Amino acid sequence: MAKKSTRRAVRPAVRKTAAKAKAGTKGGEAAKVKPAKARAKAGKKALGGTTPAWTKAEIEEAFRRFRAAMPEPRGELHHVNPFTLLVAVVLSAQATDAGVNKATPALFALADTPQKMAALGEDRVRDLIKTIGLFRMKAKNVVALSQRLIAEHGGAVPDTREALQALPGVGRKTANVVLNIAFGQPTMAVDTHIFRIGNRTGLAPGKDPLAVELKLLEAVPAHYMLHAHHWLILHGRYTCLARKPVCEKCVIADLCKWPGKTSFAAPARA
Ligand code: SF4
Repeated sequence: MAKKSTRRAVRPAVRKTAAKAKAGTKGGEAAKVKPAKARAKAGKKALGGTTPAWTKAEIEEAFRRFRAAMPEPRGELHHVNPFTLLVAVVLSAQATDAGVNKATPALFALADTPQKMAALGEDRVRDLIKTIGLFRMKAKNVVALSQRLIAEHGGAVPDTREALQALPGVGRKTANVVLNIAFGQPTMAVDTHIFRIGNRTGLAPGKDPLAVELKLLEAVPAHYMLHAHHWLILHGRYTCLARKPVCEKCVIADLCKWPGKTSFAAPARA
């Protein structure tokens, strides 16, 4: 009985708080977030190509702010050389960087070169990365690509897209990441975050990752290209989130064209 009366006492208070947040009387930013239905509708509208295009000046300003907020952005996949970077990116397909980073220290302690990885063998690699999604296929690819690097590139990671994409398990996005981080090339690796931002904000709308990549390569000023992919990924990972973007803390809120955004002002520090 006592339990029942406690629940009765708590429920009205909870209801009152929820109602306050919904009405926006207090509770600040949470109250401003549009409901999921409205955000989904706005997302569809953006995907339909109805979002206004950005001007050159707006794009320049957006990247100026990204750079001001983070002058030297870094990727979040742990690696110690171009080979371990390549392996980490291959492992990160359909997995989180955090999940990959949990498994790779043990793997790279044993094998930080193609020779050591090939010698380790598929069974052992599979065991070391079994916490990562699709680990069986990835173990096979990591060992096969190591063997190909030894046979065709003297054990070095090649610095061209063609040679990288010819390796097992390496697609365009992986090649772009390696070319950018390991070789300082101004590539644009479009992952789920950049694909979403390109379409949602109207910065680079496109039906598939390649279309978004080509639009970004055309739109982003050359002097920002080296770091552009990192700025956009980090923006998508921590601010322009898929389900509930944190527009009120977004440094490009005033520039963004998304009809579903919940803030129209750039923070003062922008
Ligand atoms: S305002 Fe910023 S966080 Fe919100 S949708 Fe636009 S880019 Fe994303």
